[in-house]
Amino acid sequence: MQQNVERIVIAGAGQAGASAAIELRRAGFQGGLVLVGDEVHAPYERPQLSKEMLKPGEVTLRAMREEDVYETFSIQLALGTKATHVDAERRRLVMEDGTHHDYDRLLLATGVRPRSLPDADARRVRYLRTVEDALQLREDIEQGHSIAVVGGGVIGLEVAAAVNARGNPVVVIEAGQRLMMRSVDERIARYLDRTHRGRGVDIRYGTQITSWDASGMLTLSDGSRIQADRVLVGIGVVPNTELVAHLDITDELGVRVDACGRTALRDIYATGDVASQPGAGGFARVETWANAQDHAAAVARSLMGDASPYQSPTWFWSDQGMTNLQVLGNAMQGTPVLRGDEHGDRFSIFWLDTADRLTGCSAVNSPKDMAMARRWIRQSAVLEPRLLADLSHPLRDCLALAGATTEEI
Ligand SMILES: Cc1cc2nc3c(=O)[nH]c(=O)nc-3n(C[C@H](O)[C@H](O)[C@H](O)COP(=O)(O)OP(=O)(O)OC[C@H]3O[C@@H](n4cnc5c(N)ncnc54)[C@H](O)[C@@H]3O)c2cc1C
Repeated sequence: MQQNVERIVIAGAGQAGASAAIELRRAGFQGGLVLVGDEVHAPYERPQLSKEMLKPGEVTLRAMREEDVYETFSIQLALGTKATHVDAERRRLVMEDGTHHDYDRLLLATGVRPRSLPDADARRVRYLRTVEDALQLREDIEQGHSIAVVGGGVIGLEVAAAVNARGNPVVVIEAGQRLMMRSVDERIARYLDRTHRGRGVDIRYGTQITSWDASGMLTLSDGSRIQADRVLVGIGVVPNTELVAHLDITDELGVRVDACGRTALRDIYATGDVASQPGAGGFARVETWANAQDHAAAVARSLMGDASPYQSPTWFWSDQGMTNLQVLGNAMQGTPVLRGDEHGDRFSIFWLDTADRLTGCSAVNSPKDMAMARRWIRQSAVLEPRLLADLSHPLRDCLALAGATTEEI
């Protein structure tokens, strides 16, 4: 353990904050540990908000951990109050109610919030980040409202699928020319377009809302008009960095950290969605469940003096109606090899570098392919593209190394 660290304060009681707090205790930190959050709930995972919570039936918010875990691990939960300012000189986290928490080390895990749609009609617009947002959207669905979803990314498409499954009219309005532009290649975007449309979701590309009228009529930039009782906006996020905006530790993405989660200030670390992390393609925010879990745990160990760089490839999943999509590593760059039929219901795209080493994979309804890809990326495996593209060859026989099995690598 580093010298003189008697008190660690974590700002942000979401998934990353909770994961870090628990890991700090597991790693043997015995000092004071405070987890500060502006939501009133104990830490919970957000994926349920656009999935289980929008389904019919009873609704319960699943907390991240059993209720007594914070007591068991002597983690002081300070919920329901926002941190407004970090006084780095005095090593103090100042809260909006005038109280403060002194720290020897501060971990920023404040996450992100939805980017808002300018000039939106506040009574009809919806965002999805918190349990309250999800409950409101659920109520809208239950009242039979028609919903326009702005943004064809993960959140927009999960909501569109959920609304459609409940029988309400839903239209996706995407400014770009295809779905999930930032995270999957064109073939998967085409698959998603086909399946969502096949189930009755209307999708409009290359257009945006230009005006709203009181009756719920939206006018789009292509001149078309859509009737929508509610508008769910999923057009990206902004990082919650205001409390450290006066410190020189942010960049345009969030709080900039090195591979161990350290900022430019010795006493301050960051993790989760708010962190601008170094990776193969430069700095990026990694807005995924797995990063909030694993990066946070790695940064907790780093706070304890184990400064091993965090190197796990990015992984996320998305459930959209009957479709399970998983994306691992760099799934937009290199040479793509298609395994399966992109016009069918399941296929994978493996991404190889110039040496045919696997660097990324996107899998549609193919969790076994994803499990193998995960293992191969960890092993820096070199694959045989011709075999990979041929479904008659079992996946495990696609390694380029003659005679090698996955177990032997
Ligand atoms: C609807 C939805 C569905 C998702 N589905 C998936 C999925 O299927 N797969 C996947 O991989 N990822 C998914 N994600 C992403 C994943 O949930 C996030 O990456 C993860 O929650 C990030 O954790 P975090 O702790 O960094 O941020 P958060 O979970 O947002 O936690 C940050 C916490 O800090 C609080 N906070 C912010 N500012 C302050 C302040 N100044 N003072 C005190 N508290 C503050 C916030 O209110 C929040 O409680 C989804 C996200 C959403 C919103």
